[in-house]
Amino acid sequence: TQGLMAGKRGLIMGVANNRSIAWGIAKALADAGAEIALTYQGDALRKRVEPLANELGAQVVGHCDVLDESTIDDVFARIEKMWGKIDFLVHAVAFSDKDELTGRYVDTSADNFRNTMQISCYSFTSVAQRAEKLMTDGGSMLTLTYYGAEKVMPHYNVMGVAKAALEASVRYLAVDLGKAAIRVNAISAGPIKTLAASGIGDFRYILKWNEYNAPLRRTVTIEEVGDAALFLLSDLGRGVTGEIQHVDCGYHIVGMKSVDAPDI
Ligand code: NAD
Repeated sequence: TQGLMAGKRGLIMGVANNRSIAWGIAKALADAGAEIALTYQGDALRKRVEPLANELGAQVVGHCDVLDESTIDDVFARIEKMWGKIDFLVHAVAFSDKDELTGRYVDTSADNFRNTMQISCYSFTSVAQRAEKLMTDGGSMLTLTYYGAEKVMPHYNVMGVAKAALEASVRYLAVDLGKAAIRVNAISAGPIKTLAASGIGDFRYILKWNEYNAPLRRTVTIEEVGDAALFLLSDLGRGVTGEIQHVDCGYHIVGMKSVDAPDI
């Protein structure tokens, strides 16, 4: 992959630590020669993101909380000043109140529904608006989704509803931005033990279930998601837009628990 992203620059949002999916993507892109800008959410994460950025020679372009649109504007203003244009955007941002990532979806509160939708769905459209202006030579945008958008998964609840809306946004954005040669795709990653995932009830059970029942009989790594992201964000993916690419060891094609799966 060396040189595949040479001369390409872009923004990656969502690195919290070295277990983040965004970090797996950043590593794959940096290895392929991309220049990368990272944001962090709040000072606590800044301390984690800065050393990681140094490892890749990436720029840290500041604090961004997608609930505060002025912080999104600040980040894009900094990038515009630094680079003038960008070629790619990675959105690996999601949040919902832990108390609602357990139990029943029917009990979701209006406040957490709005919050989850704004952070986990609308924010992709919000950053796409800004990124479009900087993708003057075309570009590629990517967000992260999960199978809970398509099928009911235990405890995923309101996040599943937000991911379904996010996947629909990918298709609408792909049509709107296609004329400007901007591609918009999502990766539907299988379960991975990250900070965000630790908020989901019985997550260990979900990991085991995937390991026993996915065709490849294991779960995915952030490096594997990174390599698929590299395909979609590089010119290798130039004919692909509006796509939800599963990177889940094949779990989504299975209709039934495998007969040789042990009990969990
Ligand atoms: P993570 O905790 O490493 O990353 C989540 C990121 O979202 C963090 O960097 C956090 O700072 C950021 N974030 C949350 N609220 C924010 C806000 N208001 N403003 C700005 N940033 C905010 O976890 P992850 O699993 O790497 O999550 C990345 C993406 O991958 C998410 O969209 C998640 O839903 C998706 N995903 C995760 C899995 C999994 O099993 N881990 C599977 C499929 C999809």
